[in-house]
Amino acid sequence: MVKARVIGISRHRLTTDGDGVTTLVAFNGCPLRCKYCLNSHCWDPERGKEYTPETLYEETKIDQLYFLATHGGVTFGGGEPLLQVDFIKEFRERCGTQWQLVAESSLNVPFENLEALDPILDGYIVDIKDMNPEIYQAYTGKDNVVVLKNLEWLLQHRDPNGIMVRVPHIPDFNTDEDVVKSMERLKEMGVKNFDEFNYIIR
Ligand code: SF4
Repeated sequence: MVKARVIGISRHRLTTDGDGVTTLVAFNGCPLRCKYCLNSHCWDPERGKEYTPETLYEETKIDQLYFLATHGGVTFGGGEPLLQVDFIKEFRERCGTQWQLVAESSLNVPFENLEALDPILDGYIVDIKDMNPEIYQAYTGKDNVVVLKNLEWLLQHRDPNGIMVRVPHIPDFNTDEDVVKSMERLKEMGVKNFDEFNYIIR
């Protein structure tokens, strides 16, 4: 049976991570090690509560009326949701096609995962960090080669309006100029929706 650990569920979010009213489901597990990660407990494989697609559906369907009335649904975050291919596929089978399912992802995952989940997802929020490979490596501990290939593929295979790219100002890692450069490069690639914001360090 497919299972996954979930480190948090946040209900009644309004247009913060997708259209309408959404429930954010944060999965355990992430390939990156971002220096200012707010969910670093997701790096510990033992943390979180174990769910099956069925038990998660039972818990989230309490908000079905809101989802249907506002064109909302479930946003999968983390951690890295695109590592949970079988879980999300089975969840879709249970919730049906009317819920909007969105992934908030770094896209730093094998292409096969993206390809398998793409027909099931309604939209993406892409956590791009910074387009400069050196800044990306310094901040996340990993390179962004796969990220760029995956994003390029996504932009060619679906309406760019369904893809929101988050571009953060990261204290001590990038400058305002780096952010402008990242956005210029992303626009050249075909990105239309941006969420430019500042990381708040606690
Ligand atoms: S991608 Fe997100 S969850 Fe993963 S390390 Fe970075 S900030 Fe944390």
